[in-house]
Amino acid sequence: MTQPGTPIAAPQPAETPYIHCEDLFKIYKSDELEVVALRGLDLRVERGEMMAIVGASGSGKSTLLNILAGLDQPSAGRVMVGERNLLTVTDEDLVDYRRRDVGFVWQQTGRNLIPYLTAEENVSVPMALDGRSRRFATERARGLLDQVGLAEKRKRRPTELSGGEQQRVAIAVALANDPPLLLADEPTGELDSATADEVFEVMRRLNHDIGVTVVIVTHDREITRRVDRVVAMRDGRTSTEIVRRAQFRRDEGDALDEYAVVDRSGRLQIPREYMDELGIGRRARVTMQDDHVAVRAEADADQDASDGRWRRR
Ligand code: ADP
Ligand code: MG
Repeated sequence: MTQPGTPIAAPQPAETPYIHCEDLFKIYKSDELEVVALRGLDLRVERGEMMAIVGASGSGKSTLLNILAGLDQPSAGRVMVGERNLLTVTDEDLVDYRRRDVGFVWQQTGRNLIPYLTAEENVSVPMALDGRSRRFATERARGLLDQVGLAEKRKRRPTELSGGEQQRVAIAVALANDPPLLLADEPTGELDSATADEVFEVMRRLNHDIGVTVVIVTHDREITRRVDRVVAMRDGRTSTEIVRRAQFRRDEGDALDEYAVVDRSGRLQIPREYMDELGIGRRARVTMQDDHVAVRAEADADQDASDGRWRRR
């Protein structure tokens, strides 16, 4: 409330994250049907963060990543990456964006690399396309291959590399033009867990060393140990977030806090298993308690209103 006589301060711009999706929709239309792949998705990613997106197959993860990569256009909502509005961006600007501002790693190792080129040549390609001299490209390609631990294998072709090594070359390719953002769609989906670990480790190191923002879509449950934050998607929306909280005592390991995502309108998803256990159906009673909000099934909403805890029927 403004007191009389108090000067009215200009509204402070909320701190803007690097990636900001708000109420984002993607609808795929074909002759017979419409698929709503994203339905009001909210997501914020800070600059320099390394985070993961998990969720069941079909929950919209790839759709989101393709939009962030500038490979697909959203249907409605808001999606900002840095200063760029990806909903209204021009085609010309989008070409620039894809070339310089974002690197992408696909799940299929074969999709990331050109089979008849060596690792070093593969990493040089995006720089050549961006008009860099051959000398510059070769030198930088070597540096990048060194950073992903493949200096000795720079003359090998993809078929002469293991799956994990191919994905590490793919990361070097993605970072060739020094983009501030690295996106990876199930980059370890075709790898065994030890090899997957190496790939995650390389991304972690690059995130730390060069400050590139990393967003990984993955099925790998182990990912929570490797990233700062995990966001779960359900039915085209973000549902929960797990945030790592560093512990002071080494032997305790890191603690993980899980939160439900609340959008601007106050909507959140109640975990399915809670709904089932408490018998919450189409409606719930939401009440303010001293220091929290209680959500109960309709039928027993009036009982025990004071203790405010989840209560089984
Ligand atoms: P995920 O990567 O989480 O498995 P996707 O983003 O690939 O999920 O898909 C989300 C939903 O959108 C699914 O129902 C899928 O069938 C649908 N979908 C994805 N791409 C297309 C497309 N090009 N045309 C029509 N439907 C699509
Ligand atoms: Mg997918």
